[in-house]
Amino acid sequence: MASNPSLVMRILSASVAVSNRASNIIRNVLTKGDLGIVEKGKNDLQTEADRSAQRCIVASLHKQFPNVAIFGEEDEMTQRTLSFVNKPQYGTLSSCVPHWTPPKILELYDKNQNLQLDPQETIPKDFIELNFDEEVLKHTCPEYLKDTKDEDVVIWVDPLDGTAEFTQGFLDHVTVLIGISVKGNAVAGVVHQPWFNFEKPGLPLGRCIWGVIGLGAFGFERETPPSNKVIVTTSRSHSDRMVTEAVEACNPDEVVRVGGAGHKVLLLIEGKVHAYVFASKGCKKWDTCAPEAILHAVGGTLTDFHGIRMNYSADVQRKNTGGVLATVADHGKFLGCIPEHIRDAMDKSSPAPELDFKGIVVCGGADLEKAKQNNGQVSAAKNPSPEENAESKSSSDKVPNDVNTKL
Ligand code: AMP
Ligand code: MG
Ligand code: MG
Repeated sequence: MASNPSLVMRILSASVAVSNRASNIIRNVLTKGDLGIVEKGKNDLQTEADRSAQRCIVASLHKQFPNVAIFGEEDEMTQRTLSFVNKPQYGTLSSCVPHWTPPKILELYDKNQNLQLDPQETIPKDFIELNFDEEVLKHTCPEYLKDTKDEDVVIWVDPLDGTAEFTQGFLDHVTVLIGISVKGNAVAGVVHQPWFNFEKPGLPLGRCIWGVIGLGAFGFERETPPSNKVIVTTSRSHSDRMVTEAVEACNPDEVVRVGGAGHKVLLLIEGKVHAYVFASKGCKKWDTCAPEAILHAVGGTLTDFHGIRMNYSADVQRKNTGGVLATVADHGKFLGCIPEHIRDAMDKSSPAPELDFKGIVVCGGADLEKAKQNNGQVSAAKNPSPEENAESKSSSDKVPNDVNTKL
């Protein structure tokens, strides 16, 4: 174990451990067979697996890090169950929480150590994960994160990403996402895939991918995407005309429509696609924080449609209203493919305060500037040809040595 691990590495290590637990909980819900589906909004579902995994992750991380802000997708439910405490602990799905107060729920454990949230709602003791993942703690925290304090951190939790696909049996689209942001910057994260290998009996079921910008990413085999074609991934259940138009503007040879922001970023880092293009305001901060950090840790980029990285401070709006564009390389070229009217329809995100990444390449707005310089008007930029992709791949795919390390 690294001596005296930093706050960020301890949170990451706890997040890996709790994602394993949440993943078990999710699989058990499916095994029991009653998904308990609730419609939160139009085309927006929640199941017992989302609710139970959220309780497990938020309660566990809160117990370990009581002064760190944690926001989860199902907070409305958590807030309802915590309402008797009469404190504004969590943000709701749509609201901003400019002056967030850390919740004080530690005193709510009953004599059996079950977390008693309200008279009807008890979080079982075995939902509380207090272990740390030892593998994570073997690594030394990058210098720029060493002095991070509780109040600098916001944890963004999507207990089950890809709910629509989960209810339809596309199990490998499902991921558990725990993103760690520091001063508004996504810096570390966990993407856990509970049903990885589910169609390959005999192989271990599930896997956990984690990473830190400046350290690398672990738990998967890094591949580079094919150089002779352009493959773009996008939503399969939240598509509309603009989503499709933006994808088509990238002139793809192949379009991969799958569920989950986490799953799509896994396709990117495993070299199965070149870009994730989503011209929609539907994706939220808990969808992108962990994937963005892991993608960035291996040299990729995730921004809005204006080339601005997302801001993950506690007071930001939950929706990524600028859309989502994620790439392993050639970010500026893909940005340059997006027609002006689509870019105009997407809001400009408020940029996160720059962390001093100390020599680590921070991609973002600069890519768009480069695209403009190279191609004149961004709207007139030509689509990336396979040759150009191949050419820039060799120069921009600087994979840290440790990326292929398996857990
Ligand atoms: P998808 O690629 O459709 O799986 O979307 C990625 C993430 O964004 C998932 O968590 C979705 O629930 C969320 N999302 C995207 N679009 C919408 C939408 N129109 N309404 C609700 N959630 C959405
Ligand atoms: Mg999600
Ligand atoms: Mg979700």
